[in-house]
Amino acid sequence: MHRPKTRSISTQDIRRDNRSLVLNLLRRHKLMSRVELARIAGLTEPAISRITRELVDAGLIAERSLAADGRPGRPMVSLGLRGEGLFVLGMDIGANSQSLCLADLCGEVVARQDLNLLSFDNPEAALEYGADRARDMLRTAGLEPGRLAGIGIGIAGAVDRSNRILLQAPTLGWENLPVADIFESALSVPACVEGRPRAILHAEHTIGIAQQKNNVLLIHLGLGVGVALMIDRRMLRGASNSAGQIGHLKVDAAGSQCTCGEFGCLNTVASGYAVLSQLGMAITSAQPDDARVGNVWLLKHAAAMAYANDIAAVRIFRSAGEWLGRTLSQLTPIFDPELVILAGAMAQIPSYVEGVRNNFHLARELPLSISTMTLEQAAVCLALDAFVFDPRLDFGRFAGLA
Ligand SMILES: [Zn+2]
Repeated sequence: MHRPKTRSISTQDIRRDNRSLVLNLLRRHKLMSRVELARIAGLTEPAISRITRELVDAGLIAERSLAADGRPGRPMVSLGLRGEGLFVLGMDIGANSQSLCLADLCGEVVARQDLNLLSFDNPEAALEYGADRARDMLRTAGLEPGRLAGIGIGIAGAVDRSNRILLQAPTLGWENLPVADIFESALSVPACVEGRPRAILHAEHTIGIAQQKNNVLLIHLGLGVGVALMIDRRMLRGASNSAGQIGHLKVDAAGSQCTCGEFGCLNTVASGYAVLSQLGMAITSAQPDDARVGNVWLLKHAAAMAYANDIAAVRIFRSAGEWLGRTLSQLTPIFDPELVILAGAMAQIPSYVEGVRNNFHLARELPLSISTMTLEQAAVCLALDAFVFDPRLDFGRFAGLA
């Protein structure tokens, strides 16, 4: 029978949306019965039965029998995501570390490896090497064709996510790289790229400490100071993808010179590099690449000194934290967040965090939390949301779902 084209597209859209809704509910609630799914999704039980049957047949969800609280009768049957139904790759690239992992539909990492991408002469060769390692990882895991949904790449730098380009990564010395295109053509799966702070904030909002929060400010603290901002549940990016970057705010009138040429930027007093400078450890004179790698290593050494209660190190980390705390006190009211998150290597150092907390004063109570999200989890979450849980995703390409 002939049907108008618009009708069939619309029906297909509804089926796709409902499948996505069920998958997202199972991601959030882990195990749910069909009755619970119908109630929360606002769908009829026959509709839920049909959708879940399709997803079971596609291998994306599975039934799990649960004992019904010791009561007699049939055990309760719940549904949950089937981890091995689909996989994603996650890659994180920063000056301090580069890693690759393979994770399942539940976000569980099933394989990982460190990459040494900074030993290459140019970034293209480094990314090609990364793609080679990804191919090796997939071969070793023996994935069925079609079970890899895509790859998510987090990079410590300014990223234009919609144009899929790394604009600039000063700590890596990389710029203007079509990162997603490079991995897409190398691996023949969809790829997406995001800046590290935004990737971490995205993951914290989806599966971490910022769930249910609509307005979040995340400060990523490594050798430099990076920022990610979520306002009204939307990631704030700005005209040049650098919204919220505070590293070059001038905060110290008597400050030293920054890499940008100005004096007294926040980066010169509150960053990991600032701590190294204060400790007299920062490398400035060597080749830029050597200085980057050397300073990353030295920051780990400085952190170890602070952990060992080295008096000078503790004082300098605390002082750097105080600069950030004072700056956040000025800055935070502009964005009016409901949660501030500190992430990155510096956020794991107690004296630094203490310095921030002691100088972060606002007219109202505002929680300040420390992120424990790993960079791999963030990259995996990026890929899962872009290629599996996005409601716009067409599941037709997985296991023949129409
Ligand atoms: Zn500057």
